[in-house]
Amino acid sequence: MAPGVWWVRFVMPGPLNHINLWLLEDGDGWTIVDTCLNLDSAKAQWESLFDGFMASKPVKRVICTHMHPDHIGLAGWLCARFSCDLHMTQAEFLTGSLIMGYTGEQAPEAATTFYHRTGFSCSQLDNYRQRFGSFGQFVTPLPHKYQRLSDRQTLSIGGRYWEIVTGEGHSPEHACLYCPALRLVIAGDQILPRITPNVSVFPTEPDGNPLEAWLASSTRLLDVLPDDLLVLPAHQAPFTGVRVRLNQIIDSHRLALANLYDLLMEPKVLPECFYCMFGREIGDEEIQMATGETVAHLNYLWHRGNIGRQVNTGGRYEYQSDPAARYIDADWAQ
Ligand SMILES: [Zn+2]
Repeated sequence: MAPGVWWVRFVMPGPLNHINLWLLEDGDGWTIVDTCLNLDSAKAQWESLFDGFMASKPVKRVICTHMHPDHIGLAGWLCARFSCDLHMTQAEFLTGSLIMGYTGEQAPEAATTFYHRTGFSCSQLDNYRQRFGSFGQFVTPLPHKYQRLSDRQTLSIGGRYWEIVTGEGHSPEHACLYCPALRLVIAGDQILPRITPNVSVFPTEPDGNPLEAWLASSTRLLDVLPDDLLVLPAHQAPFTGVRVRLNQIIDSHRLALANLYDLLMEPKVLPECFYCMFGREIGDEEIQMATGETVAHLNYLWHRGNIGRQVNTGGRYEYQSDPAARYIDADWAQ
């Protein structure tokens, strides 16, 4: 991609079907960014790189942009194999460790209550209970120590300065790696070219407002990143035009918020918002992600006082717009 920066793509199951990982030449070793899921095929792909393209030098540092399984899945395995350290932000490391701890546990009542309130059917709740605690299936145990990455910190990699730029909303403290000298940014899931990064509310923080954090982060990235960068995203292909893309993503959320406010002039339960949010019906296999993303938009409007929320007689959240507190998207578009 640039001097000392190499792109590898690993295959994954599921609709995304791949992740992009980055190999950075770093003096007498390699720094790698993100790791793929804990899959036999991914371990085999790493081994063939260690025997081939990367054979001349060891891995000396593993950086993970955030704690989602496709990014940290093999971090523990790689750090153990090369006796090197994992570098992550604190909130990502701690959140990843927390969710690893749920492995094999039963779904807590707080979580099933949240999904009942947000409209899950009995069978959807059963599916959720069965899948709960599966994080550890795709993630090798995390190291017991790590090196903390912080916002605006600089790292020297391969003799060049790289700056950490954190963002919230997709995950708690996602790290992008910006190299001004090479005019590129490793964007992880914070900036993707054609899919909008998932911004979801989870049952651990049911009244959370990750969309507010997401929009603030995206606005801040517009301040930090110049437009002539090559963006290296974790999914799909590298692209240019980071500012155009950030503005498109911000606008897509603004449009969804305005559409929801209009829709909720009549009270609705959450699943009745899916068509407005996604333009299609939502099947059982995507219900959790669609619900999380819809709650993120509803909580944003609710925290701003644009809509009200109450629990109806069926125990479901019912949302309704307040005509006197009109949603005006220009409010925060400065
Ligand atoms: Zn992610």
